[in-house]
Amino acid sequence: MSTQPVLKSDTTKLKKTDLLGLTLPEMQQWLVERGEASFRAKQIYNWLYQHLVADFQAMTNLPQALRDRLEQEASIGPMIARSELHSKDDRTRKVLLELSDGRLIESVLMLYPPIGESSARATVCVSTQAGCAFGCTFCATGQMGFDRHLSAGEIVAQVLLFARELRAAPWSARGLPGSTPIDHITNIVLMGMGEPLHNYNNVLQALRILNSPDGFTLGARHMTVSTVGLVPAIRKLSEEPLQVNLAISLHAATDELRSQTMPVNRKYPLKELLAACQDYIAATGRQVTFEYVLLAGVNDTPEHAHQLGELLAPLRQFAHVNCIPVNATSADYRPPGGEAIRAFRNVLFEHGVSNSVRAERGDDIAAACGQLRTRFERNRKQE
Ligand code: SAH
Ligand code: SF4
Repeated sequence: MSTQPVLKSDTTKLKKTDLLGLTLPEMQQWLVERGEASFRAKQIYNWLYQHLVADFQAMTNLPQALRDRLEQEASIGPMIARSELHSKDDRTRKVLLELSDGRLIESVLMLYPPIGESSARATVCVSTQAGCAFGCTFCATGQMGFDRHLSAGEIVAQVLLFARELRAAPWSARGLPGSTPIDHITNIVLMGMGEPLHNYNNVLQALRILNSPDGFTLGARHMTVSTVGLVPAIRKLSEEPLQVNLAISLHAATDELRSQTMPVNRKYPLKELLAACQDYIAATGRQVTFEYVLLAGVNDTPEHAHQLGELLAPLRQFAHVNCIPVNATSADYRPPGGEAIRAFRNVLFEHGVSNSVRAERGDDIAAACGQLRTRFERNRKQE
């Protein structure tokens, strides 16, 4: 066994700063600490988020010495795409990404053609953690357990990856001749692997970076945070200057049923969760989306819909329910049929609760997050 001591200077040399994790003021500070001019930060931001470059040598208005130095001391969110899948209609693209420590995460790009007045959308579904600690029974990620939080840079990098892809090859829907191809990301949803509000600081940092007017300029209204229902973090979020959309994973309208599928309900039961949502609405004046994964024979009867309607009716027009037929995972859940979904929604309408159903997409590429990684790891074990 080698007894060679590792010199501290050697290890610090190896540790590069991920520039994608820095806000503009932090990047200015980082440069100043190294004796560089702070105005270079805006130039770098411009290269990273407007020109979408992934290579310091492409930053041609920086002096060569600074480009070389950045190469030595900094990185631009290094991740390796291990597997990439496109759905048959090419409206859903999923990548399995390997992080610098070998952990695997999934990110998805969802493309929507223009409909009526609304223009085309390109939405990235972003992971915020490798694995998840909350163990919802219908969720493939939840069944893996928790590995670690993602850094802000690792969250930003997922968005940039698809932004570069669309810039290089703009997308237009097949069969819609004449519609303008879409070449940029219009929305992000934090609905990939992990619980965003469990990784609060890194998530908010990433959203601020993507929102920066000197960088990617994605509006807060185009960002959606989805949470399993972490009450203190929802309250904190309502005080943030960055007013993003909030989605709550509800999935059941009684504590008994919710605790069966979502263990977090034992810590933050419905009464506390709904009170936090009501305070969020009062503080922000914004609508909250309630996600409701429909599990055949578990939570999808008209009686369940009545309970849900009664629970949300006090929130009036500030509550919207998104009905999501479950994507079958290895767990024993099945989506209800079209008739049951229609009946469920009608009861909600009777209660005056606005609702929609999420169009199924990408089933042929294992759309629910966590499924691709599960499949990949199973195959790797068999090799
Ligand atoms: N942890 C966060 C965000 C990631 S999950 C949350 O739970 O909200 C994003 C959404 O996908 C959640 O509403 C989650 O309940 C839902 N989901 C999980 N597994 C699913 C499955 N098998 N089919 C459909 N939706 C699923
Ligand atoms: Fe975690 Fe969300 Fe999956 Fe629940 S649904 S296990 S909170 S990722």
